[in-house]
Amino acid sequence: MRDFFDIKSNDNALFVTEQCNNHCLMCCQPPRNVDDIDKLYQKNQHLIRSAPKELKVLGITGGEPTLLGEKLFDLIAEIRQFLPDTELHLLSNGRSFANEAFAQRLAEVSEGMIVVGVPLHSDYERDHDKISGCKGAFAETMYGLYNLADAGVPIELRIVVNKLNFIRLPHIAQFIFKNLPFVSWTAFMGMEQTGLAHKNHNAIWVEPVDYVDLLAQAVFYLGSWGLDACIYNIPLCLLPETVWLHAEKSISDWKTQYSAQCDKCLKRQQCCGLFGTSSEEYVGLNPFMS
Ligand code: SF4
Repeated sequence: MRDFFDIKSNDNALFVTEQCNNHCLMCCQPPRNVDDIDKLYQKNQHLIRSAPKELKVLGITGGEPTLLGEKLFDLIAEIRQFLPDTELHLLSNGRSFANEAFAQRLAEVSEGMIVVGVPLHSDYERDHDKISGCKGAFAETMYGLYNLADAGVPIELRIVVNKLNFIRLPHIAQFIFKNLPFVSWTAFMGMEQTGLAHKNHNAIWVEPVDYVDLLAQAVFYLGSWGLDACIYNIPLCLLPETVWLHAEKSISDWKTQYSAQCDKCLKRQQCCGLFGTSSEEYVGLNPFMS
């Protein structure tokens, strides 16, 4: 994580803690039980005060930012004061919002300038709990999603595709339509092979070539009900052309890397590329030559 803001970057964020109450099998930033909240809070106060006023979007990430409790709302209030035109993108596992009052506080303090990105690992409770490393996480995340929606907070639902959930992608899409149709959009995300995803490679890793057809089914299903879906972190050459419209240049600019094969690819400008932080390239890269 950088400790300065770059107005031209697609990824400016405040890192607020290494602590987390989940322990996701593919976490790229493995949690640590360290007493870091106050120290990082002070550092982030300086960053907020020195940030360019024209910053369009500012992320808040960790660890799990809601573990800051009331301090998270103090931080957001400071952002609203010093960066009144900046939208916020908070990454959270959503569990703290199972407390209705906590969700309402977020809505109040963020003044309609926030989107919360919440991962849902499966439509099946046991799979979600297994992937998130915490029994009961699914129920709390679902309550959290309902409470955020009730408070009027926009939600980006994030599905990190992995070996334990890819087979259910069409079922997950049906679950979203039936139970979470209020989310602003659903993002299907390729995994970054670093941190715990690297450590748990055998249990969790799956190549995009093995799931892109199921992914396309899920995207089309959501689209058939008028629900928005995006694809993050998967290069165009691994996706069926029918879903290219949903693919975004999602990888943080400072993490983006292209393979030597990409040098001759005609779609390089439109393609998200690869995680420079991943320990291995995706299988099946295939440059467009005409
Ligand atoms: S070859 Fe490289 S630039 Fe071209 S689509 Fe694949 S990953 Fe993207």
